[in-house]
Amino acid sequence: MESKILLILDLDETLIHATATKLGDDYAFQIYHYYVYKRPGLDDFLRACAEMFDLAVWSSASDDYVSQVVAKIFPAEIKPVFVWGRSRCTPLALSRIDEYGYYGLEGASHYEYAKLLKKVRRLGYDAKRILIVDDTPEKVRNCYGNAIYPTPFLGDPSDNELIILTNYLHSLHEEANVRSIEKRQWQLKFPPKQ
Ligand SMILES: [Mg+2]
Repeated sequence: MESKILLILDLDETLIHATATKLGDDYAFQIYHYYVYKRPGLDDFLRACAEMFDLAVWSSASDDYVSQVVAKIFPAEIKPVFVWGRSRCTPLALSRIDEYGYYGLEGASHYEYAKLLKKVRRLGYDAKRILIVDDTPEKVRNCYGNAIYPTPFLGDPSDNELIILTNYLHSLHEEANVRSIEKRQWQLKFPPKQ
């Protein structure tokens, strides 16, 4: 059997919402001065993903924050292939990001911590077999063929995006080439059962 597709998950506004302003008493835990709210269905989502994929986490938040959040939200039996924070991101001028890489910062007015797929390919993963879930398209602009954009999670307790995303990922997990799949408006393909 072919090896599993690598699924790389973002943290903030994809799996959790961390805020210095308390939204309600149902926060999951605190890190620094942040109240952290888990996206509804997160535990089931991570377990389902671990069955289907090799799992990894890549966030542009500080490395320390990222490792603390992952330690809190991942079920003990699930070991991510890697957990990467800002130190593995590349500050790119938004006007200079393209499919082929990075051309320099001079003259740029706005930056984004980008996730460059070549860093993952160095681990031995084929680009056809990598999915990356991130609510901020600018951070994954150089790998849009691999990217799935969820709606940003800002703490809404009725959010059901992870249920829809589980169904969608199930439809992809045995694809030979995930880059050939049209992923825009993916939410419309697998609405949750009423
Ligand atoms: Mg995010």
